[in-house]
Amino acid sequence: MAAAAIDREGFYITTKGERSHFHKREFKCRCGRCAFTDVSAKLIDNLEALRLTLGVPLTVTSGIRCPEHNQRVGGARFSKHMPDGNGVGHAADVTTAFRTPVELYLWWRCVEIGGGCGLYSRWLHVDDRDDRTEWVERGEASTQAIGDFISHATMRELV
Ligand SMILES: [Zn+2]
Ligand SMILES: [Zn+2]
Repeated sequence: MAAAAIDREGFYITTKGERSHFHKREFKCRCGRCAFTDVSAKLIDNLEALRLTLGVPLTVTSGIRCPEHNQRVGGARFSKHMPDGNGVGHAADVTTAFRTPVELYLWWRCVEIGGGCGLYSRWLHVDDRDDRTEWVERGEASTQAIGDFISHATMRELV
């Protein structure tokens, strides 16, 4: 899959041809030794859809990861953060100061986009897989947090 196009200032461009809120440097592998930085156009589309739905800035805490870095941070063996044969990454972990990871997860579920989405204790994982897939890393703890959030939101008539 091709890497997302980048404008003159380094911002990724969506497949609709619009400048996204995401800058190339945010996705660079954090190992400090490799040069991997490209991510797929579809990943940018998914992240931008989430960003526009939320209306608040998202921070990429982990973008593409070379195999060495992926192993060091305990990533999955076939993690979508790792570069494909063209050196392109397919996943990013995001956070925001304005929402909890549980809230990000629930927002993602409202967005009519494909891709994978995983809720972790301190971030939301988003990737570009073809089938819409969601999961919760922490099992009961996160499930409880989601339940608490929904019942709280219901009480405030926000659902
Ligand atoms: Zn690296
Ligand atoms: Zn991830």
